[in-house]
Amino acid sequence: MTAKSRLGQNFLHDANAIQRIVTALGDCSTRTVVEIGPGKGAITRVLAGHARHVLAIELDAELAARLRSELSPERVSIVNLDVLRFDFAAAAAQTGERLIVVGNLPYYITSPILLKLAASHTALDHAVLMVQREVADRVAAAPGSRDYGFLSVATQLYGFVEPLFTLPPGAFSPPPEVHSTVLRWRFAPRFTALGVDQAQFLAFLRKAFAQKRKTLANNLRAAGVPSAQVAELLSAVGIDEKARSEALPVESLADLWKQIAALSNGSLSNQIST
Ligand code: SAM
Repeated sequence: MTAKSRLGQNFLHDANAIQRIVTALGDCSTRTVVEIGPGKGAITRVLAGHARHVLAIELDAELAARLRSELSPERVSIVNLDVLRFDFAAAAAQTGERLIVVGNLPYYITSPILLKLAASHTALDHAVLMVQREVADRVAAAPGSRDYGFLSVATQLYGFVEPLFTLPPGAFSPPPEVHSTVLRWRFAPRFTALGVDQAQFLAFLRKAFAQKRKTLANNLRAAGVPSAQVAELLSAVGIDEKARSEALPVESLADLWKQIAALSNGSLSNQIST
């Protein structure tokens, strides 16, 4: 069976890396682990010996059928589905506990998968994910660094992200054109501690980070904040008028968001967050 590049099929064949991925999940002997894109089952087979149950979500019908014929249904359930349509909340409700997630992700939909996991965070405990190295750099970046942006803040708001190790293209067959990094994401949302509404704050952040090369002040104007109010808002929370969102810790952006809501009595914040 030839690999389908349009489905991001780069199969991992480095036994040591597979073992390190499964070890990074921690003790899952009493837990259900959801695997995104099991492919030919390189990770799935090792995982089946460690987890109470594996729920493997594979879009490719041919691969799903092959895995189903090879693996015991008592240990591994194969679901032939686009992971973006998988209902993590329902699966967690069925198992009665938060899920652990693992996956050597299909790189063509890495960001949508990360955002889907973020949106499903109440159903999840932690995830160990292989992503393109450049994406891992963005996800784990600190404010002020070149890689920091919306993807960094949108993932870090949902918990702690920790890069674990990087693999060269040769660890996969066929080899991708990029290096790959495994990262662990422990879900622990920060919205309550920051005092912001999740959906509204994320909508605000999308606009604050909309144009990377522009200052935050310019992004605020583009989002509809009247020019006359921009300087006042920024100075009220101690943000330099020339600052870019990429330089600011999320706490400062949360303060700014709360200030916007307070100053305009809600009307401006409603406009920005819709
Ligand atoms: N886990 C295997 C491994 O490590 O060798 C395969 C990893 S390969 C990088 C990505 C896998 O995700 C492929 O098997 C591909 O068919 C599957 N896939 C692609 N798009 C998907 C989607 N939207 N939902 C679920 N699986 C998908």
